[in-house]
Amino acid sequence: TNRTFTMIKPDATSKGHTGAILDQIIKAGFTVKAMKWTKLSTEKAGEFYAVHKERPFYGELVDFMSSGPIVAAILEKENAVADFRKLIGATNPAQAEEGTIRKNFAASVGENAVHGSDSDENAEIEGNFFFNFFERY
Ligand code: ATP
Repeated sequence: TNRTFTMIKPDATSKGHTGAILDQIIKAGFTVKAMKWTKLSTEKAGEFYAVHKERPFYGELVDFMSSGPIVAAILEKENAVADFRKLIGATNPAQAEEGTIRKNFAASVGENAVHGSDSDENAEIEGNFFFNFFERY
């Protein structure tokens, strides 16, 4: 068993997809270990995505991720990181497999409904970014 970290992004929360996305995540076998509804400041969004600072879409990404509410969560499942990335589908929803969360709910590569950590190490770092010791179990 291990953990991953996810965010339901502002496009999905604002379109009312939060419940359906959480339902799909839980039905796929993930257990929620911590969860919060919050909003990132541009400063916090910039910090979270600092690894992408040199990418051409960084400014757009930071503006988008601070444009509305998000849901942050720590999820547990065997093989969590890889299985969750499979569940969400390709970064670009046009290339995402049928039945994936991005295929079901995302509009574009920028506004792609959900985030999923890309490694166990980043899952830990990203979970700690949002949740202190008393907010996860
Ligand atoms: P995430 O880290 O959100 O799970 P990912 O690992 O699938 O996404 P990355 O290549 O790490 O994708 O990009 C991080 C995020 O940056 C993407 O989810 C998307 O929101 C945004 N992004 C990536 N490529 C583009 C692009 N060409 N234009 C606009 N935004 C982009």
